[in-house]
Amino acid sequence: MIIKPKIRGFVCITSHPKGCDARVQQEIEVAKAAKKEGGPKKVLVIGASTGYGLSTRIASAFSHDAATLGVFFERPSMKGKPASAGWYNSVAFEKAAHEAGLYAKSINGDAFSNEIKQQAIETIKEDLGQVDLVVYSLASPRRTDPETGETYKSCLKPIGETFTNRTLDTDKGEVSEVSIEPATEEDIANTVKVMGGEDWELWMKALNEAGVLAPEAKSVAYSYIGPEITWPVYTNGTIGAAKKDVERAAQAITEAYDCEAYVAVNKAVVTQASSAIPVVPLYISILFKVMKEKGTHEDTIEQMVRLLNDRLYGDDLELDDEGRIRVDDWEMEPDVQAAVAKVWPEITTETLNVMADYSGYQNNFLALFGFGLPGVDYEEDVEVELDLPSA
Ligand code: NAD
Repeated sequence: MIIKPKIRGFVCITSHPKGCDARVQQEIEVAKAAKKEGGPKKVLVIGASTGYGLSTRIASAFSHDAATLGVFFERPSMKGKPASAGWYNSVAFEKAAHEAGLYAKSINGDAFSNEIKQQAIETIKEDLGQVDLVVYSLASPRRTDPETGETYKSCLKPIGETFTNRTLDTDKGEVSEVSIEPATEEDIANTVKVMGGEDWELWMKALNEAGVLAPEAKSVAYSYIGPEITWPVYTNGTIGAAKKDVERAAQAITEAYDCEAYVAVNKAVVTQASSAIPVVPLYISILFKVMKEKGTHEDTIEQMVRLLNDRLYGDDLELDDEGRIRVDDWEMEPDVQAAVAKVWPEITTETLNVMADYSGYQNNFLALFGFGLPGVDYEEDVEVELDLPSA
């Protein structure tokens, strides 16, 4: 079929298999150009199909020749409709990894469940023996507790008082104001349940008990801090409370097992998860312009290459006062933040492409779903039903 983007609010409900393949290839080229010795060898990536998790998988495989097992929750093609982008990304990744002689298998299902954890453990036992790096990169709006069967929903709300600020309707290209009511205690607890550290700890406990964690293994989960303008809805909001809990979990994992667990604070980038956060897309559009002009702009793959090569397996972890790895360092440079803060109150719908890189944001967003990639013929009839090569 011929596939065109169909955008509904902050998601695109179609995706293009050849475009996703081309985008994965672009990331592979970046990773290949940064080959390094002494990195991870057998890697489990939880949340491996899009965004930061996919890029960590690509960086592990193509900068370090690592074997990778990826876990994700994606929609294969059904009734002739395109699969989700993460499905096509994973098909493309596995194909390229196999061609390069690298082990790559994937498990599609709910990572919060006991069943998927067991399936991952069995696969590691059979194929890899043990893993030396566990990457935890889930972003999910809900989680079913595997013990109680209860489902919790996360939310993006401020804590304490209503937050009003500028935002961007990324579909219409309009700058407007948004007001978000404060979270209830239940909202906070539910968001911590979904996006906090509990499930990461359950994974590490299960992996350790099964004997599939290599001695002196490493594990990393991702967080974000960002500028003060987004703190009420992010760092000081419900999601920030969950991220604090992820930091608690990192410490608990490090103390409990023969494993160094870290939180890496990553840069703001366009992903399916970040496009859903109010205020953040306007900040990202301005940030992209400032960082591109300064020559320090990075996307997920550049970030993850730097995380593995320079920090986790580099000469210096450079932890901050809270013990976190900071690959958001270039985003947080004072001159970058000052330039964003100057533009913030002035920008309007009319000046979006002058004062910010709105077209860069849009291109980035469409590319997440495989659209707008050079060299892809979007008028071509393409096969939508693609199986994972390892299936
Ligand atoms: P994303 O939406 O691109 O990726 C989420 C991944 O989680 C996908 O692979 C998806 O399949 C998987 N997933 C979701 N629910 C699942 C489930 N129940 N079972 C199995 N897999 C499931 O998100 P992202 O932006 O790459 O976020 C990953 C992490 O990075 C998050 O912790 C996020 O807070 C953090 N982070 C993101 C940004 C940003 O700007 N996007 C910045 C810093 C940190």
